[in-house]
Amino acid sequence: MLATGGTIAGSGGSAFGSGYQPGQIAVGDMLAEIRSLGIEAELDAVEVAQIGSQDIGWAEWNRLHSEVARAQADDEICGVIITHGTDTAEETALLLDLTLDAGKPVVLVGAMRPADAVGSDGMRNFANAVRVASDPDAANRGVLVVMGDTVFAARDVRKAATSSVDAFKGYPRGPLARVTPSSLDWFGPAARAEAKARFDWPDALPRVAILIAGAGMDEQPVDALLGIGCRGIVLAGMGQGNAPQSVLDALQRAVASGVPVVRSSRVDEGLVDRNVEVDDDARGFVAARALGPAKARILLQLLIASGISDPAAIQAAFDAR
Ligand code: ASP
Repeated sequence: MLATGGTIAGSGGSAFGSGYQPGQIAVGDMLAEIRSLGIEAELDAVEVAQIGSQDIGWAEWNRLHSEVARAQADDEICGVIITHGTDTAEETALLLDLTLDAGKPVVLVGAMRPADAVGSDGMRNFANAVRVASDPDAANRGVLVVMGDTVFAARDVRKAATSSVDAFKGYPRGPLARVTPSSLDWFGPAARAEAKARFDWPDALPRVAILIAGAGMDEQPVDALLGIGCRGIVLAGMGQGNAPQSVLDALQRAVASGVPVVRSSRVDEGLVDRNVEVDDDARGFVAARALGPAKARILLQLLIASGISDPAAIQAAFDAR
């Protein structure tokens, strides 16, 4: 169990209040509560961080990656559970999924309600995560996210609501399984294409920005991003990854200067294909396909960190699911 904080370790000091702080409960106290439930798992806990996942970044990811790799190599450990805030769960899950071998189950779990709120979902989600991480059928599926009695693949999962306990969705693939503390039903065989990690763990992640398109905007935000040294830009475009002409022209200039541009969509279920309303071939853009902006940014960061900046090679990586 690798603890990072989040609402699953959050406290508001009141069962009925709406305000709270994530990452308040130390891992030892979480373990004591887990043990008091009688969960039948031998848990070996490491505190990686005690923060809200809005603050997660390179330092925590670097530590998480090495702790998971260490656990995967340890024959005594049959699965890994990462407790994590929900805001950036999809980013951490995808980053680890792309950089770790598929083997042992790696399950990211969080909560929508703090630990001391009435109807808190944290311990139930945790019990479900134990169920998944200890199931041999969870192996070879890549990193999994367990929330709201549902299991998702890292490549598909996204946070789609800000407060309900079933806030997560899988897109374009739906859930992989339903889970309760006493049952687990997989809907199909393991689907991750590769057994091996797709990327080596990088020495650092480059600065890549997400630019959200809005009606009436102009090219100045693109110029500002280039001005602060962005190495790549993900457009969270309207509809099929669209943006005003002046923005597309500025993004095309970015590509010409060696800064790759990936077009994703600000729409929740946003599939973005090549050359629909935007001429990607002429402008040198990449279509994010089914990856939303947050996940597209992670993949682009890994590609640039691996020395890949050619649009065709980046497109091939986005096409490979
Ligand atoms: N802001 C919190 C976090 O991501 C929200 C949560 O965990 O649900 O850490």
